[in-house]
Amino acid sequence: ELTHTGWQLDDSYSRLPEIFYSKFTVNPVRSPNLVILNEALAETLGLNAEDLRSEDGVAILAGNRVPEGSVPLAQAYAGHQFGNFTMLGDGRALLIGEQLTPSGKRLDIQLKGSGRTPYSRGGDGRAALRPMLREYLISEAMHGLGIPTTRSLAVVETGEMVRRETALPGAVMTRIADSHLRVGTFQYAARFGTKEDVKTLADYALARHFPHVQDASNPYLALFQEVIKRQAALIAKWQLAGFIHGVMNTDNMAISGETIDYGPCAFMDSFDPKTVFSSIDVQGRYAYGNQPMIAGWNLARFAESLLPLLHDTPEEAVSMAQEELTQYIEQFQSHWLAGMRKKLGLFSEEPEDMALAEELLNLMHAHTADYTNTFRALTFDKLQGSNLFDAPEFKEWHSSWQARLDRQEGSPEARQQLMRDSNPAVIPRNHRVEEALEAAEFRGDYSVLHRLLEVLANPYAHSPEQEAYAQPQEPESGYQTFCG
Ligand code: AMP
Ligand code: MG
Ligand code: MG
Repeated sequence: ELTHTGWQLDDSYSRLPEIFYSKFTVNPVRSPNLVILNEALAETLGLNAEDLRSEDGVAILAGNRVPEGSVPLAQAYAGHQFGNFTMLGDGRALLIGEQLTPSGKRLDIQLKGSGRTPYSRGGDGRAALRPMLREYLISEAMHGLGIPTTRSLAVVETGEMVRRETALPGAVMTRIADSHLRVGTFQYAARFGTKEDVKTLADYALARHFPHVQDASNPYLALFQEVIKRQAALIAKWQLAGFIHGVMNTDNMAISGETIDYGPCAFMDSFDPKTVFSSIDVQGRYAYGNQPMIAGWNLARFAESLLPLLHDTPEEAVSMAQEELTQYIEQFQSHWLAGMRKKLGLFSEEPEDMALAEELLNLMHAHTADYTNTFRALTFDKLQGSNLFDAPEFKEWHSSWQARLDRQEGSPEARQQLMRDSNPAVIPRNHRVEEALEAAEFRGDYSVLHRLLEVLANPYAHSPEQEAYAQPQEPESGYQTFCG
């Protein structure tokens, strides 16, 4: 155990019933080398970047030693993977504690790739460098876009190789989350624990994330409602940004409403609801256009776990849950429409706005237009030189949009500002992501990654430097992602 400045760890999770975790010791790695550190995030955590870069600091980020106050543990959970229920758990992650930050937050500090645990099943408990850097990059890009997400504090090379199809350099990533409670944690409690265990977990989730509804007349119904609210808001943001999670298994859905588990995720270039990047998602279950529905499916699994707490009469509990699930759909749609109005520069509401937005999406689809850049072009009125903009149907759409803009109050400048703030100049373009990861993995050159991170930190800046990062690869290739 290391006494180390800045660490203020609590271990509330370890005070839950024992079925929820396995206390665990660290699996040291040979020669840890810090390759990237999120200094701004370190500061908000109350951690000193210089200390983290020291030998002791890196030893902690590598999982070779633990800071004072740490009760390292692997969390137990279950989940539906591509629709099939399985027992899971942290197979390659270690929760080293909950950092109490200077601003009064409690944030999980988790090491990913830290070695085998009792939940590793056949796996080696390790992670390769490239997917950890990828998670670091995409999660920070999500944060820049204003989408709730787990954060990435650091990646440490282990100096050991991991065996995948080939031997790859290994790494440990430090992930920061409001918590790692998942829908799958509740499924685990409901399946393998007692009703009392589910209640304890629900009380814990309420205290940690939704203290304002703890005293509601039915706190467990309130818990369900709050989780629905956050998911409806989150999934709408994904859709509006063109983000495809890729593996929306119930164990990868966080109760906190943060995006979690960056494996095969990627951003869509040209608009197509059927877009799938994940090499293992052969059926397209987690395609872009399915995400809202899948989130609803996952929330139904969450509801099933909570049923005994919702009401003593099972039929009553089921109908309460069903009622809330219809709320999810309504809330999602209303967030999505509100976001689309902003992307189109609309301050006011008209009943035809939904149709106006959908018609634009249909046109983008028909003309394989780039999703992000179409909105950018509309923002700056630069409508030349694409199949879409030259199409007569688009010109027709454009005049109804113009007429719609003319009907609202507010200056053209205010309209453009709203659009600038709602339409990113840059997203993590797949070829730019690969370029940055290749430079890091094969040449040890992190400058490309740092530059990309910088550009993605302010995606709504619309600065000239961002232009070079705005274009999709031409021609768009059959980009594929992997679970890592
Ligand atoms: P994911 O697809 O990332 O959500 O992971 C699904 C499950 O597999 C989780 O329980 C992970 O902890 C586990 N897992 C993934 N990779 C490994 C590995 N290399 N060793 C052990 N467990 C793993
Ligand atoms: Mg996962
Ligand atoms: Mg994963």
